[in-house]
Amino acid sequence: MGGRIEHAGVAGTQPVAPSLWLLHLEAPAVASSVHAGQFVLLRCADPDHPTFDPYLPRAYFVFAADRRAGRLSLLVEVRGRGSAWLTRRREGDSVLVHGPIGRELRPERLTRHLLLLAEGAVAVAGVSLLAADAARTGRSVTLIANTPEAAAGVPPQLLPADVEYRVTTPEAGGLLGALPGAVSWADEVFVAAPWALLEGIALLRRARLEPFTLRANLPVQAIPLPAFPARRAGAPHPAGGGDAVPCGSGACGACIVPTGRGARLFCRQGAAFRLEALRFDADAPGEMEGAGATDDA
Ligand SMILES: Cc1cc2nc3c(=O)[nH]c(=O)nc-3n(C[C@H](O)[C@H](O)[C@H](O)COP(=O)(O)OP(=O)(O)OC[C@H]3O[C@@H](n4cnc5c(N)ncnc54)[C@H](O)[C@@H]3O)c2cc1C
Repeated sequence: MGGRIEHAGVAGTQPVAPSLWLLHLEAPAVASSVHAGQFVLLRCADPDHPTFDPYLPRAYFVFAADRRAGRLSLLVEVRGRGSAWLTRRREGDSVLVHGPIGRELRPERLTRHLLLLAEGAVAVAGVSLLAADAARTGRSVTLIANTPEAAAGVPPQLLPADVEYRVTTPEAGGLLGALPGAVSWADEVFVAAPWALLEGIALLRRARLEPFTLRANLPVQAIPLPAFPARRAGAPHPAGGGDAVPCGSGACGACIVPTGRGARLFCRQGAAFRLEALRFDADAPGEMEGAGATDDA
């Protein structure tokens, strides 16, 4: 099993925007080994009174980490039972954490100008450590987030001051509207978004449609995320992280990402995949063969 399991102490919870909270955890074992783009699984129930309800842990990207102090900060968007439970934790409570899970996100060596596109607050959490690491290593970093309303997004003061952070809204054209003005100077792009938007960007790239100059030699890394709001009951799981990264070890095979070289697992080979490696015409996730193969996508 990847990662460690740790009883983390809650150091505090902090409301930062409507429905958005920071959850600060003392988790020295997990924090000491966490890298950009990795996530943890949290049991949303009191670890001192074990219960199988809710049965599945919830996945959270590590929004910020103080590795020396052994502290993690998670950005929690209140959606349902698990996230509401997490935001009700208070200093001194404990939470069972499993992680870090997934592979490190790292820009290419020669990348100087990094563009990060994030569809929603969870996506910002997915790239926030990457933004901080890249800025610290001297790259210029622009992070553009699309959020339903500007006031509901991740507040700028939560991101490092040397990251240029812009917020857009669906009315202003969303991420696709922001792309033409930002992509021309980028050496590399990471997009954290639901499957449908990733597919749209892949189509634009193939069409070589101006002004979306996603030139062929521009590396684009895609982080497939759940399509919130949650899928309807009985509907198939969306490709990618979906709602479900149930085990975080690759054993259950639920978090399938279809690629041109077969099925990959979000928890093992993710969170990022080369955009051109993703297969948007694939069978429904779960019907693909080859899940768990370990070669790179
Ligand atoms: C890789 C990844 C990273 C994520 N990172 C973040 C992040 O940084 N911040 C953030 O806010 N969210 C993040 N999420 C979403 C998060 O994991 C939760 O899905 C979300 O917060 C909603 O959980 P909930 O329990 O509040 O909602 P719910 O709707 O109660 O549950 C969410 C899902 O859990 C399942 N579920 C619900 N109840 C049960 C039960 N009793 N037993 C078993 N399964 C159940 C269902 O499939 C449901 O769709 C991430 C998701 C993924 C896949």
